[in-house]
Amino acid sequence: MVLFETSRQTTRIAVVGAGDVGAACAFACIMNHVAGEILLVDIKETFRDAQVLDLGDAAYRGTPSVRAGTYQEAGQCDVIVVTAGAKQKPGESRLQLIGRNISILRTVIEGMKPLSKDAILLLVANPVDVLTCFAQEISGLPKQQVIGSGTFLDSIRLRGRLSQKIGISANSIDAYVLGEHGDSQFVAWSIATVGGVPIDEAVPAGTFDRDLIAEKCRNSAATIIEGKGATSFGIGAVVSSICSAILFDKHLVRPISHWVPDLGCCISLPVVLGRRGAARPLPMNLNEEEQKALEGSAATLRGVIADVRRDFKL
Ligand code: NAD
Repeated sequence: MVLFETSRQTTRIAVVGAGDVGAACAFACIMNHVAGEILLVDIKETFRDAQVLDLGDAAYRGTPSVRAGTYQEAGQCDVIVVTAGAKQKPGESRLQLIGRNISILRTVIEGMKPLSKDAILLLVANPVDVLTCFAQEISGLPKQQVIGSGTFLDSIRLRGRLSQKIGISANSIDAYVLGEHGDSQFVAWSIATVGGVPIDEAVPAGTFDRDLIAEKCRNSAATIIEGKGATSFGIGAVVSSICSAILFDKHLVRPISHWVPDLGCCISLPVVLGRRGAARPLPMNLNEEEQKALEGSAATLRGVIADVRRDFKL
């Protein structure tokens, strides 16, 4: 398998936005030894430097090294994780963040140019699907190299809840939340399996309430934000897993936000993830109701994208 050429021995991850989410992403990448160097970038320099010191203590074994970086340095990293942006206030939807976060996105990407042609840009700031679409345009990178964390986090929440209900490890459950990382997401029950067996056959009817589980996944972030003001550890674990899949060219199947030509937006469907990003979509055999839900979710996102184009002249 041919990987990207690199003159450096050290793999580097830049985390742009060193707040709650950025720090959790960096921490998870440190603990999982995903890269050789982690750069933190933030407009609040004193705060950023304090995060570098704190995270540097977590990397006490010597790797990865953690340091402060500039936009320009971030643009030359192997993976650039963008968490810079306003977070949801209690009761606010992800889509309501767009006004504040689109201008931050522009500043960040323009500041990093020219980007390394091999960089993978991983959007985490919300609304992640909409920002991923605009990041593809603003960065000029090939679309497969600009991805969003999407419904990967929602899917691990789903697997965790199912595991509790059916008494089988989440590792043996293949089940996806697809569509928008937001209110129009849905669970693709028709393709969910446990140990390779369709979930309907593997688990006796009535073991769990599908609608209730889907609802709890959808509302999980709101519940966490209500209680502690931000979600951070789950997304940190997700970002570490995505970075690892990219840097070690693992070709893992993950539900992440990527450009889907047929739907005209970035949205989460399972893709094969490796050093070239979201290189290969996986054909999905959704049932009629799920296909409708997917198209509805995409229509919601296209509507927001059209509003942003009009309001921000993009
Ligand atoms: P936070 O306020 O704690 O951190 C945001 C950081 O971004 C701050 O430190 C701020 O100084 C920095 N920042 C702002 N503008 C910047 C710029 N131009 N350049 C560099 N840094 C800049 O917020 P948080 O809790 O870390 O959340 C960050 C984003 O992540 C939010 O949009 C939130 O909704 C999103 N989020 C996404 C997911 C997901 O699953 N995709 C999960 C949790 C949070």
